Amino acid sequence: YRAKRSGSGHALYDTGMRTFREEHLSLLGDLQQAVDNNELILYYQPKVAINGAGGDEAEALVRWIHPRKGFIPPGEFIPFAEQTGYIKELTRWVLARAIKQAGQWLREGRPVKVSVNLSTRDLLDPGLPATVASLIDLANLPPDYLCLEITESGFMDEPAKALDVLHKLRTLGLSLAIDDYGTGYSSLAYIRRLPITELKIDRAFVLELAHSQGDAQIVRSTIELGHRLGLKVVAEGVEDQPVVAVLAEMGCDRIQGYVFGKPMPAEAFDQWRNARLQLQ
Ligand code: C2E
Ligand code: MG
Ligand code: MG
Ligand code: MG
Repeated sequence: YRAKRSGSGHALYDTGMRTFREEHLSLLGDLQQAVDNNELILYYQPKVAINGAGGDEAEALVRWIHPRKGFIPPGEFIPFAEQTGYIKELTRWVLARAIKQAGQWLREGRPVKVSVNLSTRDLLDPGLPATVASLIDLANLPPDYLCLEITESGFMDEPAKALDVLHKLRTLGLSLAIDDYGTGYSSLAYIRRLPITELKIDRAFVLELAHSQGDAQIVRSTIELGHRLGLKVVAEGVEDQPVVAVLAEMGCDRIQGYVFGKPMPAEAFDQWRNARLQLQ
């Protein structure tokens, strides 16, 4: 406050930080209420099998409809939830919701394998495997219908701890995917050690695939590597048909991207599937 009176530049900095902090504190309060107030909703984006092999799959992506601020994308509140520790509750909500939905789709005779994103912090929660086990039990969901997506950065801090959680999750029979593959710091050595079943190539490598020889070579060898390790390979962020054609030729297993469908509410996902069935 002295700085403010003397009119030095620190005052501005102070005020700036204060506003920043207050805004975040109020957002945290809002986020804590968001679950109770039903402001969070899961969207589902199809992960389409390229050669038609295998059943339907979708990734669950959380959205927050804030009563005053409107639509807030996950990129704006997930990192914040991670910093504040609220992510644990958020992940539990997402898991419960997605597992319930997958159970419902299965009972309706239209099974969808659903993927849920875990955050870096979740992998350090030793209670997570038991939570997931009881949720799938409650929803009567065979583990084949659940995939958990993790990122390489989840292992940076405490690799042994994270690895232990991963092994326990894998033992439940779930699928485990490495998300945003290629953007993290970790190496091939890591990938080999992780009990994963799927590799998702980051959008950054897919974007220019049809035009860039360099990217094409990276993606081709990543698909080959994945297959050699016995993993399913998924390309994310595919927006146009030429890229689909290239990926198909390369033997990629699944494609996720606007070219086939944007993330959408569960009911819209049902309609999307009906429309596709009629096309086939
Ligand atoms: P992600 O897991 O890599 O999810 C894919 C993101 O790419 C989604 O963004 C999706 O909408 C977007 N996307 C898909 N296809 C295309 C495309 O063709 N073009 C473009 N430009 N984008 C595409 P979204 O939904 O905004 O989510 C961003 C990130 O937020 C996710 O990246 C994930 O890391 C995180 N996230 C989302 N939901 C959750 C959640 O429930 N829990 C946690 N921990 N993280 C979440
Ligand atoms: Mg993901
Ligand atoms: Mg991703
Ligand atoms: Mg991503």
